[in-house]
Amino acid sequence: MMRILFIAALALTAACNGGREEEAPDADPDRAPTADPTARSTDPASAEAGAQGSPFPREVLPALETISPDDMRAVVAEISSDAYGGRGPGTEGDEKARRYLAGRLEALGYAPGAGDGYQQPFDLIGITAAQPQRWTFHRGDDTRELEQRAEYIVGSGVQGESAAIDDAELVFVGYGIEAPEYQWDDFGDADLEGKVLVMLNNDPDWDPDLFEGERRLYYGRWGYKYESAARQRAAGAIIIHTSPSAGYPWQVVETSWSGTQFELPQGDEPGLRVKAWLTEEAARELVEWSGQDLDQLVEAARSRDFEPVPLGVTTSITLDNELTRVQSANVLGLLEGSDPELSKEVVIYTAHHDHLGTDEDPRADDAIYNGALDNAAGMAVVLSIAEAFTALPEPPRRSILINFVGAEEQGLLGSQYYARNPTFPPGRIAANLNFDGGAIWGETEDIGFIGMGKSDLDEVARTVAGYQGRTLKGDQDPDKGYYYRSDQFSFASIGVPAIYPDAGRVVIGKPEGWGQEQMDAYTEHHYHQASDELTDAWNFSGMVQEAEFGFLAGVLIANQDDMPRWNPGDEFEAARQQAIEALDRPPEGRE
Ligand SMILES: [Zn+2]
Repeated sequence: MMRILFIAALALTAACNGGREEEAPDADPDRAPTADPTARSTDPASAEAGAQGSPFPREVLPALETISPDDMRAVVAEISSDAYGGRGPGTEGDEKARRYLAGRLEALGYAPGAGDGYQQPFDLIGITAAQPQRWTFHRGDDTRELEQRAEYIVGSGVQGESAAIDDAELVFVGYGIEAPEYQWDDFGDADLEGKVLVMLNNDPDWDPDLFEGERRLYYGRWGYKYESAARQRAAGAIIIHTSPSAGYPWQVVETSWSGTQFELPQGDEPGLRVKAWLTEEAARELVEWSGQDLDQLVEAARSRDFEPVPLGVTTSITLDNELTRVQSANVLGLLEGSDPELSKEVVIYTAHHDHLGTDEDPRADDAIYNGALDNAAGMAVVLSIAEAFTALPEPPRRSILINFVGAEEQGLLGSQYYARNPTFPPGRIAANLNFDGGAIWGETEDIGFIGMGKSDLDEVARTVAGYQGRTLKGDQDPDKGYYYRSDQFSFASIGVPAIYPDAGRVVIGKPEGWGQEQMDAYTEHHYHQASDELTDAWNFSGMVQEAEFGFLAGVLIANQDDMPRWNPGDEFEAARQQAIEALDRPPEGRE
């Protein structure tokens, strides 16, 4: 209702501002009638404008009526119920969730998106490491022990029956980053083979010209840290946790790294034997005991001249692994595009269907990780989007693929598997819109958008946000590295422009700061905890806005003449170039 008032204002915001956080259309209703109504014609997206200057063809808007808060509540209630057991990969609950999703896609008229069926199966190696309760460190004749969970978390890097490091030396390697484009190399000439590397989390964030300042790049993510240590042929790596540098509290490390860890079957790339995290307190004491000062080491690590610092401490640890092989699957439904040529290209919507499963710790009073917000909410949004597409008189020009990916919580494994085994060539995947979480606190005046400033999907998002009368904001927590923490990253890695629309923060009718408070409270009390459950307090009107946003953005992308592009110089531009060049090569030549 309100959005209609702001249509005239939206075209005024079309100019690109380089992707920084942006105050888009002014949400003051008094201003809209004074805006120049002819301005909208300069917006390329409105070339086929429908009624009242909307950037969408007239027949698109009635499809929005299918997006319903009650339907979304029903999806969340179903899939986050205890009957799904927290949807741990390879469990009965996981299978039940996949069947449910496939059934919904089929009922909506989507064709099987994975060959003959709706499911694209993949194997997972589950590693359950019997974690020693104590971890011993030696310095000369002196020993020091750390306590499991309270001070450290350790995981196996090996898909074998045991993972051990034996009397290996600890070396502090700063951020553990090698980044030629920033002339940054924390390793220098040091021979780190067989060592245990102790590293800071995050990437250098104090200088806007260095690693994009506060924005966390992939260099700042734990996945990068362990890969980087493996490239040095290290035996193990220990990341020092702090809440600001990780972007989440220790609790999240504890729950995410306990129990069974899943991986795609390993190739022959070099691997670490042991991957660990230490709390800041434990790291501080350990470093002090080694005769160094953590603050001084951190200070030294801020320089390009930094060299690895051996700590004079050795350690041994053995993890006895129990290995299992399980199967999960991505659930794919396809709506073929209406244009004979462009239908070979596709817009892919993703929402992960897995969560953390059931806690086997008998002391847990609520053992089931229901994952209502994470990510029953995202599935509900994407199912609503899928339904809206079926309400169009004819499908958009490009095809639409709904892809509920599995094993996200284990490190984006389902989307990674899809990226390695795509059902469309990567060079024909126009874009990925990923939904992880949802806006459960009501309608918002703004929309957060992770991946802003990276591609011309910004313009699409700006057009839709303007239509909705919402302020478009970039990543609200650029320091947390969300771009690399959900499935859009797997698509970006193969060159596909990808975004992750995020919940807004300015909730209509609530005092300033209320929305942010709700989000912070969720992170603190429910994120990746058994208490992430559907309650009566959930207000689905914000998720309706999200689904409308996702649907309308997809309509624009699927109908525009050209595929979206990364901004020049973006970290994923080269991958896109390669993917498009690969289209001209015979299929055997493609990797
Ligand atoms: Zn999630």
